[in-house]
Amino acid sequence: MQFKQVAGQYSLKAKLASNAASGRVPHAQLVLGQSGAGNLPVALAFASYLLCKNPTPEDSCGVCDACRKMQTLTHPDLHFSFPFPSSLGDTCVDLYPQWRKALQAQPYLSYESWMRQLNAENKQGNIPIDECRSIIRNLSMKAFESRYKILLLWLPEYLGKEGNVLLKFLEEPPPDTLFLLVCSQPDKLLSTIVSRTQLVRVPPIDEDDLANHLSATLEISPEEASRFSMMSGGDLLKALELVSNAESPYMEPFRQWMLYCYKNNLHQSAKWTEEISGKGREYIKGLLLYGIEIMRAITVMDYLGERNGLNESEKEFVSKLGKLMSPKKIISIFEALDAAVYEVERNGNIKMIFTDLSFKISRLF
Ligand SMILES: [Zn+2]
Repeated sequence: MQFKQVAGQYSLKAKLASNAASGRVPHAQLVLGQSGAGNLPVALAFASYLLCKNPTPEDSCGVCDACRKMQTLTHPDLHFSFPFPSSLGDTCVDLYPQWRKALQAQPYLSYESWMRQLNAENKQGNIPIDECRSIIRNLSMKAFESRYKILLLWLPEYLGKEGNVLLKFLEEPPPDTLFLLVCSQPDKLLSTIVSRTQLVRVPPIDEDDLANHLSATLEISPEEASRFSMMSGGDLLKALELVSNAESPYMEPFRQWMLYCYKNNLHQSAKWTEEISGKGREYIKGLLLYGIEIMRAITVMDYLGERNGLNESEKEFVSKLGKLMSPKKIISIFEALDAAVYEVERNGNIKMIFTDLSFKISRLF
C-alpha cells in the first residue's frame, strides 16, 4: 500500500512522510480513526514508506524490493498483530494467510468484516497473552532487511489486561523498533498504553477527496460519487455500502425493454431503442453489461441465495424473469448480449444491434 492509494488525507500523509524523511519518527504511535476513514491503510502506507529503499519526498517508490514485499505483506521486518477468536489458536502467525488475503481484498478493514472472514461473527476476538509474548520475541530480534522493524498492532483495544506485559517494551523499545497501534475505539484502550504513545489522528475523509476517490475507482458518475460521499460523512466503507445498495441506473430501462420483448411489442421496443440510442456508446455498453449480470444472476440465483449483491427490486426482477424462461434460453440471451457488447465496442450501428436483439429475445420468450 502506498500513500497515493489512500483516499484523501493529504495533509496527514505529507506530515508522516516528512517526519520519516527527517528521521523524526516517534517509536510508538497511536493511529486513531474510523476504519472507513482509513486508519489501517494510513498505517500500512506509512510502514511501506519507512521500509522503502528509495522513497520520494511524498511516497514510497512502489518498485523496490521492500515495496514489492509490502505489496504481498510479506516484508520480514513488518510484524502484524490483530484480534482473533481463541478457538483459532494462540498467536496471530497461523492466521497470516487469511490476514493478507483480507487486506489485499480491502485494506479498509473493519473488525466486523475481519471476524466474518474468519467465520467467527458470533465469537469474541481478542489479542491474548501468548500473542503479546510473541510480539516481544519478534521485536527482540534484529531487523532483517531494513533500518526499522515495525509492529503494526491492529485494534489494541482488544488487548486485555495481559497487554500490560507490552508496557515496558513500549516505553523502552530496542533500537529502531517502531510501534504503529491502529485504533478505532480509544475509550476501550488501556490508559497505560495511551499514555505511552504519540497520537496520530485520522479524520473523516474530506468530502471532495472521497467523491474523487469513488468516481476514480468505481463505475459511477461524478454526481453520484458526490452524493454518496456526502451521505457517508467521510467514511469510505459507508460510501461503498451505499453504492452497493443503490439501484443501478440501468435497472429500469432494462426491465422496460425485457417487458416489451416479453409482450412481443416490436413497436414499443423500437421506440425504446430510439430513446437509448441517443445516450452514447458508454451508456449502451453499461446497459448491455448490466443485462449480462442479470442473466448471470438468474442462472446462479438458487446457488447464491442472498449473497449475489443484488438489491431487493433486482432480486424480484431476476426471480420473475427466471420463472419465464428455461436456463437454456437464459444462456442464449446472455450470449446475444455478450455478442452485442462486442459489436457496440466496434462501432456497430446501435439501432440495428438493438432491433436484432429485441427480435431474438422476443422469440426466446
Ligand atoms: Zn520502494
